[in-house]
Amino acid sequence: MANGADTRYDVSADIDWFDRYNTKGNFDMDACFNAFDKDGDGYLNLNEFHTICRALFRNDKGKIYSLEPKKLQDILSVFDKKKDGLIDREEFAFCWNNWIKKIVRPVSVFLVVDVQNDFISGTLNISQCSARQNGAEVVEPINKLLETVKFDTVFYSLDWHPSDHVSFIDNLPQRKVHSSSPVSAEEARTYDTVIFEGPPLMKQRLWPRHCVQDSWGAELHKDLKIVDNSIKIYKGTNPEVDSYSVFWDNKKLTDTTLVSQLQEKNATDIYICGLAYDVCVGATAADALAIGYRTILIDDCSRGVDLKDIEKTKNTVTSNNGVIVDSSQVKAMVEGRDRRPELGYKLAMELKSIMSDKSK
Ligand SMILES: [Zn+2]
Repeated sequence: MANGADTRYDVSADIDWFDRYNTKGNFDMDACFNAFDKDGDGYLNLNEFHTICRALFRNDKGKIYSLEPKKLQDILSVFDKKKDGLIDREEFAFCWNNWIKKIVRPVSVFLVVDVQNDFISGTLNISQCSARQNGAEVVEPINKLLETVKFDTVFYSLDWHPSDHVSFIDNLPQRKVHSSSPVSAEEARTYDTVIFEGPPLMKQRLWPRHCVQDSWGAELHKDLKIVDNSIKIYKGTNPEVDSYSVFWDNKKLTDTTLVSQLQEKNATDIYICGLAYDVCVGATAADALAIGYRTILIDDCSRGVDLKDIEKTKNTVTSNNGVIVDSSQVKAMVEGRDRRPELGYKLAMELKSIMSDKSK
């Protein structure tokens, strides 16, 4: 069934339609509609829409990514406002402007998370954690991306704590641990999770003192390339709340400036990597997906604390329509030559939720 479109029409003529559109650009919405409205009836039916998706979701080597029939139907129904199973020209205008154009010409930002001395060779050296990974190994592949890929904007986040920060184990005596805490103040060791009295009650994992503002440990690794016009985002600056995500602190009390900066840039796609995979990188990717961004986690540019938690992070990303890629795949994706169905599906579902919010 899913391949019905292959036999009914000669799709070979149009399979590179979006590649030609991407490089030459002198095509328009009507040209696209006409190219795929094979029977010329003024509507795109499911088969014709499937052909669009086959031309849309391919990589730079011409490999066509498969799209489950259920997902194809889901996407079509987002744009089929009149619910007649067909896309007319008016419906296609919305599809073209809000979906196709963003897939073929995404606005991609790169977010390098916490590549700081303390996580690599300082007080919170992740190589001493259970996964035994070496944080310094992310520097080279990140630099290569910065040198070879034209991102719209590059952000570097920094864990940036005041000396009295709640996450430091040596600050434990400064606050009261609640009776419901799984470990008492006396028993608590580094990496344990306690519950502080607050109010409000607050769960907190205890870390060695790290990334203290203006210290060597808080500096970005000396070999990390800092590109011109990049933006630094500081997090964890409130002594009372920790902040794993680059978007918000763990209590969502305050946001960083990242949200507004992304809106200003009209960003569609966020590439995330850095340290630590299963802590700040994972929390940031989860938030990026929750906010609605097409989110790409770069596996070989990230190192983490715990192997099981790294697996959990990957599952969270993929089960929310994000993708995990190798850095070698990034350039073609940023240039719109490698177009992933997961990200197309994610964008369609976002459009659906935006439209249903509007109609309320
Ligand atoms: Zn921290």
